[in-house]
Amino acid sequence: MKPPPLALTPEEQAAFLQSVDQVQQAALRGLEAQPGGWAVVAFVRHLQRGVDSVVATVRDQGVRLDCAAGCSHCCHARVEAMAPEIFQIAGELAARPPLEQAETVARLEAYLAVQTQDASPQDAPWSCRPACPFLIDQLCSIYAVRPAACRKAHSRDVAACASDAALIPQSLELAVHAEALQLGTAAAYRQRGLDAQPHELVQAVLLALRDPSALSRWQDGEPVFGVDR
Ligand code: SF4
Repeated sequence: MKPPPLALTPEEQAAFLQSVDQVQQAALRGLEAQPGGWAVVAFVRHLQRGVDSVVATVRDQGVRLDCAAGCSHCCHARVEAMAPEIFQIAGELAARPPLEQAETVARLEAYLAVQTQDASPQDAPWSCRPACPFLIDQLCSIYAVRPAACRKAHSRDVAACASDAALIPQSLELAVHAEALQLGTAAAYRQRGLDAQPHELVQAVLLALRDPSALSRWQDGEPVFGVDR
């Protein structure tokens, strides 16, 4: 999750912006077809499937990606997600047994307490930072509903991840297409009058779990997770 900046030629930049626009138009049509309520939240699965599809396509093209189950270097980085992704995760957690929910909330709270005291700079090496509290036994405990930011995170050289390299070698094609899907989808949600800016994942999920009015307020257009960057 320390991707190098997208170094695009002017032609590639124009194509990228066109892709963002196409995603936005398609997502807006999709959102307008939803009956409202939870369907507007669940619509975000199209973004997730889209990013998964981009990753699969790049792999099918023979591009070497070193990411595999049990490797979790990038799960030490700050993760951001937009509101529908956050509500989707909170909804999935709320359906789990009460004891598991309580344990999850305790892990999220402990993580945020450490973060509050952490004076490390934003660009501190991954190994200096606590792991995401959703990471259990080196596996993502919310894998099915993990946000697009996690789905698109990848490395073409796990040795670079393990050594806290400043830049992680990535697939430009994967990065560009996933970014277009994220930006276009977020723009469509915003066009529907809904907050879709990125929010720090753990704090936002905790808020969604604790505040039963958060979902309805977001559906009414309120930026319930605030402006955190
Ligand atoms: S949500 Fe899952 S994939 Fe994303 S950083 Fe946390 S543990 Fe890793």
